Amino acid sequence: KAFFEEHGIKVHLPAGKDVDITPLAGFQCDGFAKRLTKYCQKKFEKPTPIQACTWPLIMQKSDVCGIAKTGSGKTLAFAMPYLSMSRLGELDVFEQPCASPRFVAMAPTRELAMQIAEVCCELVKALTAGDEGLYPVQCIYGGVPKREQRQAITETGVDMAICTPGRLQDLVEESTLDLSYVQYLVLDEADRMLDMGFIDSVKALISKMPKAGKRQTCMFSATWPATVHALATKFLSEPVHVGIGSVD
Ligand code: ADP
Ligand code: MG
Repeated sequence: KAFFEEHGIKVHLPAGKDVDITPLAGFQCDGFAKRLTKYCQKKFEKPTPIQACTWPLIMQKSDVCGIAKTGSGKTLAFAMPYLSMSRLGELDVFEQPCASPRFVAMAPTRELAMQIAEVCCELVKALTAGDEGLYPVQCIYGGVPKREQRQAITETGVDMAICTPGRLQDLVEESTLDLSYVQYLVLDEADRMLDMGFIDSVKALISKMPKAGKRQTCMFSATWPATVHALATKFLSEPVHVGIGSVD
């Protein structure tokens, strides 16, 4: 396909997997919430290659490994499908916000977590037009006292938890947060998370979530070393690999 060649994209499907890998030309994707499509159309001209390739895969319920460098638009790549699926009623719903997030994104640093949370908040706003309370976004990171984060979770609840692994682990171990209803997990900048020594935290946290196959998992990384590959093998279920640029 010309689009794949033009952007140096490689897509690898696990043997026997039957999904449509046609990239999107615009911000319309089967199952996307109209308000979210409109939000993107207003803000951007067209999807980035990683968005064009991963959106349809994620909306077809596939686990995805995305290899793409910083600045390629990965945040919307994983956040748009979650909120759209939630809106479609394809995920289990709680009657009121609680301490059990359905979406968890892990990132290596506080700054990255905050950037992701900001994008999620904007999307939730665009989606709900004033009813944001339905999808509380909580940003959870270390290096600051736990009290405020704990209080926000307890009082407002959490649907989308954006976190660094260490602090999330703390809050889970003290039972402020419960991971047994996670339906959509994102491991962002996986190579950096491993470089920073978060592997044990990540493993401990995932062991508290529903099993692969019962939750959807997307992993993103700028590079693809053996350690990242091993993580994908362990925690993703028949992922489709999408590589953008000169990575293999
Ligand atoms: P990454 O996580 O891959 O580093 P981000 O999701 O942080 O990338 O996005 C990087 C920048 O690109 C952000 O400023 C974001 O608003 C912008 N961006 C995202 N999607 C698009 C798009 N389709 N077209 C143009 N810019 C985009
Ligand atoms: Mg990012």
